[in-house]
Amino acid sequence: MGCNLRCLWCSNPELIDGTAQILYHGERCVRCGACAALSRGTIRAGSGGCEIDRKRCVNLAECAAACSYEAYETIGRSVSSPDLAQALLGDKVFFDRSGGGVTFSGGEPALQAEFVAETAALLRSAGTRVALDTAGAVVWEALETAAAKADIILYDLKTFDEKPHLACTGISNERILENAERLAGGGRKLCVRLILAPGYNDGGDLTKRLRFVKSLGRAVVQTDILPLHRLGAGKYRALGIPDPLEGVPECPADAAAAAAGEAERMGLKVTIGG
Ligand code: SF4
Repeated sequence: MGCNLRCLWCSNPELIDGTAQILYHGERCVRCGACAALSRGTIRAGSGGCEIDRKRCVNLAECAAACSYEAYETIGRSVSSPDLAQALLGDKVFFDRSGGGVTFSGGEPALQAEFVAETAALLRSAGTRVALDTAGAVVWEALETAAAKADIILYDLKTFDEKPHLACTGISNERILENAERLAGGGRKLCVRLILAPGYNDGGDLTKRLRFVKSLGRAVVQTDILPLHRLGAGKYRALGIPDPLEGVPECPADAAAAAAGEAERMGLKVTIGG
């Protein structure tokens, strides 16, 4: 899918690059050495599992395929809109029973706006509801296209102030705030999602974000407080990349409850966790 943000707390690091990624799950490895034998010296299978020199390894997919224990996992593949829609519609009975549907998420789905729009149109024409989960950090035309067939837009606001936004995501949030206002002004239904990472975007920044959400008016049908979790930590290890928040604790439940209370006092319909 790819992403143009680099959030410190990203729980889907395998989707940032936009190309297929190979994860190594050490807990499944029996240290047989089959992958290392094919690796031309770039994989060492020791008693603690495999050490993979990903910078030098030119045939990791081939080595991974040699594993009989599913210690390697490939995430990401190319797929056409019709094929994806057909596969998703295989679960239509569950969507219909639960009142659910399909959410385009990522990464940033609006980076593939035409693809999302085409797939969403196929799903909608088959009677399945569609949501778009976006950080909104794309040109307006791309966002408009990606959101064209969405019944609801899940809109992530990481911080309100620009300085922490730059520090936490690597980019300015000017366009994100502008695009949120344009979507709301156009009458699109929004569920605004506020990650809560104590020490990064709580306190005054949360208050500013909530006030901004309130300013979007009736377009916002729900506000989700998303407490920082560390469920993606294992993926960093499996990808062999540094975890930017290694050792940082999860958001305490009472901090999330306090944030939800603040949102409620502003008259927002709020959930914790979405
Ligand atoms: S082939 Fe699989 S089980 Fe064998 S050493 Fe490599 S990762 Fe471990």
